[in-house]
Amino acid sequence: MIKLKNWSKFKVEKLSYSNALKRAFLMLKQEKKFPEDAEYLMEELTGFNYTQLQLHRNEDVPGKIMRQFHDGVVRLGMDEPVQYILGNAYFMGRSFTVNQDVLIPRQETEEMVQKIIDDHTGKKENIWDIGTGSGVIAISLGLAFPEDDILGTDISKEALKIAELNADNYQADNVFLKQSDLFEKVIPEPFDVIVSNPPYISHQEKSVMDPSVIKYEPDLALYGDEFGLKFYQDISQNADKYLTENGILYMEFGYHQKSALEEIFAKNMPGYKVEFYKDMSGNYRYLKAEKGKI
Ligand code: GLN
Repeated sequence: MIKLKNWSKFKVEKLSYSNALKRAFLMLKQEKKFPEDAEYLMEELTGFNYTQLQLHRNEDVPGKIMRQFHDGVVRLGMDEPVQYILGNAYFMGRSFTVNQDVLIPRQETEEMVQKIIDDHTGKKENIWDIGTGSGVIAISLGLAFPEDDILGTDISKEALKIAELNADNYQADNVFLKQSDLFEKVIPEPFDVIVSNPPYISHQEKSVMDPSVIKYEPDLALYGDEFGLKFYQDISQNADKYLTENGILYMEFGYHQKSALEEIFAKNMPGYKVEFYKDMSGNYRYLKAEKGKI
């Protein structure tokens, strides 16, 4: 809870950039939040980068920006992620619209998408992103490979609205979006690549998660039944029918799920070579299951 006593020192008033940031830092620190989010907020609101912000540090923050900044810092104090406050988040160097109907894209996912890009045959491919959310995976691949056809599906119609907005914004007209609960409404046409970053947090993990995630990110995008493994079971049981002869399935997963997934994939995708990859923090984070390689 916000202690009003602390916040009364942070008002909408005439302040220099430097003082506005100092006050915001102080408030957020006292609330045990992340002060650096305030700087990011200011950079995004002003369009200044870090250096420009330093150069303007003694100038007054314009009234409109000060109001937005104040409002944003109060929301940070209530655990709202800065990306939802701003309405956008970055993925592979591009800005995407986000709201509370979609997961905020994560850096770990960028690493998986980079691997897919590196592995690409260079020929025209048919790619399917299951659980596309804001569409970041589908759109990044669509823009990297304009000749490819990319299908992005999601159970959530609200999420698809955001994905649609993002696809339009980047004129990614090779990205097709469709509402479907996993395989439900997709006919088995052969895909060269299927990718998914499914909900993989187990309900039991809720107690150790960051409050900003629990309070603001959509449950539908976060939690999976069966200790977070449900979607790996479903997808590994059905993907084969949807993959070409040399088709590849990529899936992101939770940092402690590798051994459970080794078992699931050995059982459900026996003809596949399954490799596990680490993220930059050194945790196993995504897998690649390749058809016909064993
Ligand atoms: N595919 C989207 C992403 O990786 C959404 C994932 C999800 O909601 N689980 O950000």
